[in-house]
Amino acid sequence: MPTEWRRALAVVAHPDDLEYGVSGAIAKWTDEGREVSYLLATHGEAGIDALDPADSAEVREREQRAAADAVGVSTVEFLEHRDGVIEYGPALRRDIVAGIRRHRPELVLTINHRDTWGGTAWNTPDHRAVGRATLDACGDAGNRWIFTELIDDGLLPWDGVRWVAVAATSSPTHAVDVSDTVERAVRSLLAHRTYVESISDESPEDYCRSVQDAATGAGAEQFGGVPAVAFELFAR
Ligand SMILES: [Zn+2]
Repeated sequence: MPTEWRRALAVVAHPDDLEYGVSGAIAKWTDEGREVSYLLATHGEAGIDALDPADSAEVREREQRAAADAVGVSTVEFLEHRDGVIEYGPALRRDIVAGIRRHRPELVLTINHRDTWGGTAWNTPDHRAVGRATLDACGDAGNRWIFTELIDDGLLPWDGVRWVAVAATSSPTHAVDVSDTVERAVRSLLAHRTYVESISDESPEDYCRSVQDAATGAGAEQFGGVPAVAFELFAR
């Protein structure tokens, strides 16, 4: 992975998207003194079957902030798109452009924007929409004549995004060795305790550990045998 950067912005659809396999890399970067901020399109309010969305949004925001804290991230912003029905389009692109202009990152992270996770495992519409809009917004952010209303708000063009790193991809090109940060990655997923307890009968600790082992092990096979978080890197 490139190391010539200081600020990264991670843009995803839901609370927990980064904790399913990316947060180990984020812990490593914040250890190195880099600044990483999170921008989430929704509060993940449709994610817990037994919880009403209004209550769920509150729980999930709190758990997401704790998950970020576990890997050294203190800035977590939420957009007000609706969980499950995020629409790809200018409104979403504009909101992400605003985030990019506020944070001025050199590296932008997102998760899989393609139809499938690989093979026939179908991706969700929210991940596709946010992933694609994020890739697009990195170019839009540098153009003052797209979303001129943002200029009126004082958000000046930022053409400094050099790479977009897409995680959870079936065609990774780069990886980050997370041997030293897997434990914090486990803890970051464990911070989503209400969600994790709602989807698994395993003990939350066992579930979170097996998720991280599977995620970083998949990267390991291709990248020298060490636990790794893999990305597909789009250079700009
Ligand atoms: Zn998600």
